[in-house]
Amino acid sequence: MANVYLVEDDKSVREQLSQLLAAAGHRVECAVRFDRLVDDIVAAAPDAVVLDLGLPGTDGQYVTRALRQASDVPVMVLTSRTSELDELMSLSMGADDFVAKSANPQLILAHLEALLRRRQPERPSTVSVGGLCLDAVRAEASYAGRTVELSRNELRILECLVRRPGAVVSREDLMEALWATDTFVDDNTLTVNVARLRQTLARLGLPRAIVTHRGLGYSLRVGGDRPGGEGPAAPGLAAGRPAGPGPAAEGARRE
Ligand code: CA
Repeated sequence: MANVYLVEDDKSVREQLSQLLAAAGHRVECAVRFDRLVDDIVAAAPDAVVLDLGLPGTDGQYVTRALRQASDVPVMVLTSRTSELDELMSLSMGADDFVAKSANPQLILAHLEALLRRRQPERPSTVSVGGLCLDAVRAEASYAGRTVELSRNELRILECLVRRPGAVVSREDLMEALWATDTFVDDNTLTVNVARLRQTLARLGLPRAIVTHRGLGYSLRVGGDRPGGEGPAAPGLAAGRPAGPGPAAEGARRE
């Protein structure tokens, strides 16, 4: 199974290709706009891109060249423009394969499968911390036999935390990670997304895995030294906090 990003403006071709890819067991995400393709593809972090050349307001060759500045994702150009010049240009701009739309669907699929086999794994797609396993490709988290799906933003946040287990990850770093997916991320957006991720992790039986470090950021605590627990409470939230803000301030504290 691979995540394939499909860039095709012709609805009927798009639907046929989506069905073909889905039937082969792939997860398909289709471009819904064509003016910010590079940003959208980078944010989707697919395993491969299937790219049309003739697109509204842009051209697949231009997109390929721009995408190459930002990503190594394999690109298969799938086009009805099958001149040698188009093929030469597409490959020169960084496409990995060039296939005619008129080709047999099984041949299109075979080209894509070959491309996926050749791809270099960038970094492990699954990371495990204290029994919490994050599968970044499937956008799933699992713990103690349970699995939940993660939204794109939840995945970005959890990925930052899981890759630096126990460390405090700053709000700025997390917002930067979210920037890759959204056009506008402010402090409140981050707070809302962390709250959602907490709810999602609670469904795994980890309601307190994300620890708030006031004014600093968040850290991940899973599988601590307490049996069945999630590790020690956040410093400053229990004993040892200096005298100062009372319950009222607590209620208004920034997450
Ligand atoms: Ca087209």
